[in-house]
Amino acid sequence: MTDRPDPFAAPFGSLFGDSMTIAELADGAYTYSGAAKPLENFSFHPATHVFHYGSACFEGLKAHRQSDGSLAIFRLDDHVERMRQSIGRLRMTVPEADLIRTLIVDAVEANADFTPDPPGSLYIRPTFIGTTPNIGAAAAPSDTGLLYVICSPVGDYFAGGIRPLTIYVETKVPRTTPQFGMVKSGANYVMALGPTLDAKRDHGADQVLFATTDDITETGASNFFLIDDDKIVTRQLDESFLHGVTRDSVIKIAADLGYDIEERPLSPTELASWASTGEVFLSGTAAVVAPVGTVIVNDAPHAVRDGQPGPNTLKVREALTSLLTGDAADPHSWRTTVTG
Ligand SMILES: *Cc1c(COP(=O)(O)O)cnc(C)c1O
Repeated sequence: MTDRPDPFAAPFGSLFGDSMTIAELADGAYTYSGAAKPLENFSFHPATHVFHYGSACFEGLKAHRQSDGSLAIFRLDDHVERMRQSIGRLRMTVPEADLIRTLIVDAVEANADFTPDPPGSLYIRPTFIGTTPNIGAAAAPSDTGLLYVICSPVGDYFAGGIRPLTIYVETKVPRTTPQFGMVKSGANYVMALGPTLDAKRDHGADQVLFATTDDITETGASNFFLIDDDKIVTRQLDESFLHGVTRDSVIKIAADLGYDIEERPLSPTELASWASTGEVFLSGTAAVVAPVGTVIVNDAPHAVRDGQPGPNTLKVREALTSLLTGDAADPHSWRTTVTG
């Protein structure tokens, strides 16, 4: 324990707990030994399906040390369901919810003592890959696969204080294809990478907000919100973007706090005018709630109010954080307590 690297000093996701869980898919069924095993390297044939044809998806959720000393996973069953949805959209055999749930709980319990205290947490990464060694299988799903869970002790995403983000609104290049909008896949990330790097280089942006045909959806890895003293606004759900669990938590918390909720279309023009008086933030498991300080619309930067994190954004962020760490009661039954 004493020789372990400090998650607060390491980049997000670069440290790992020493155990993993893994289930093998073959002949249409998943097999799990029933216990975690040491984290170790894989060895694969160079023709393995995932390396060539992108048969991969993942999840990202967290376990938090609670104020009473116990350990709880946040919104476990919602992440399990989304993983099943992603695997199904890759046209692979969908595992039973119970199996994914067990793999996650066993992995967290095996890695529990790696969990740093809040604001740190244990980031959990369930992963699915197609493993059939056959480069002729371009037009077929892999008939074998691995479903595994690794854990990463993470510190505060905003080490050194919350830094408001600069986001670039992209209206021409889409984030992904329509049929992959709701798949949590590496393929979507690599597609969003080019526009994000270009916006960083050309506009000093941290993230790209995708708004193809002036329809704001989300960034490459997080959902998008407007908030002021009265209401919270976000894009209505459809198949074009990832339905963030944090997005759903934010909406329910905001409703509990008395905000009006508007789920509806949002345009870059509305965003540009909103910025003078309202607040803007991104939501996702890794950063939780990330304030936006500048939005670049039609290549013109607009400060979001004074460019600093706004009071409503911080209020929602606080409310969510206290649910994560057990400082607040759990009215929506979002916490699953595990051993450790
Ligand atoms: C994971 C992800 C999010 C955020 O989802 P959470 O469940 O809130 O972590 C948003 N957009 C994309 C594209 C994602 O992959």
